[in-house]
Amino acid sequence: MPLTVEVITAERSVVAQEADMVVAPTMEGVIGILPRHAPLLTALGPGVMILKKNGAEENLAISGGFLEVRHNHVLVLADTAEREDEIDEQRATAARVRAEEALRDAAQHPQDLSTEAARIALRRSMARLDVVQRRRRRRPNP
Ligand code: ATP
Repeated sequence: MPLTVEVITAERSVVAQEADMVVAPTMEGVIGILPRHAPLLTALGPGVMILKKNGAEENLAISGGFLEVRHNHVLVLADTAEREDEIDEQRATAARVRAEEALRDAAQHPQDLSTEAARIALRRSMARLDVVQRRRRRRPNP
C-alpha cells in the first residue's frame, strides 16, 4: 500500500498524492519514509522534499514546518512550499545574492539575530535553486 502525502501551507494545498517513498529535510538531517513507517512528528528545516512514485520523482522546496507520519499518511505543514514548476529561479538567485551579501557584511556580528536570519534565508534560496537544478538534470531542455 503506497503512502498518501499532503503538503499544505497556511495559504494553500500544495500537494495531495500517493508516493512509494518520501524524503524530507528534518532539522536533524534528511529522512526517508517508506510505507508502514512508525508514527512520527518532527520539525522540518529549509531543504528539498522528494516524492518518489513508480520510479518518477517530484521535488518540492520547503522552508520549514512540521511533518507527521501516521497510518501511511504523511502530512506536512510547511511555512512555504513550492512545486518545481512554480519556482522563479531569478527570484531565488536574487535572494541568495542578498543573503550572501548580508552574511558578508555581518561577519563581525556572527551572533546577531539578523545574521541568523540571513543564514536561514540563504538556505531557503539554496533549497529553491536545488529544486530548479534537479528539474534541469531530469529535463535538460525545459
Ligand atoms: P524573497 O526574498 O524572494 O521574498 P523569501 O525566501 O524571503 O524570498 P519566503 O518568505 O520564503 O520568501 O516566501 C514568501 C512567499 O513567496 C511564499 O508564498 C513562497 O512560496 C513564495 N516564494 C518565495 N521565493 C520564491 C521563488 N523563488 N519562486 C516562487 N515562489 C517563491
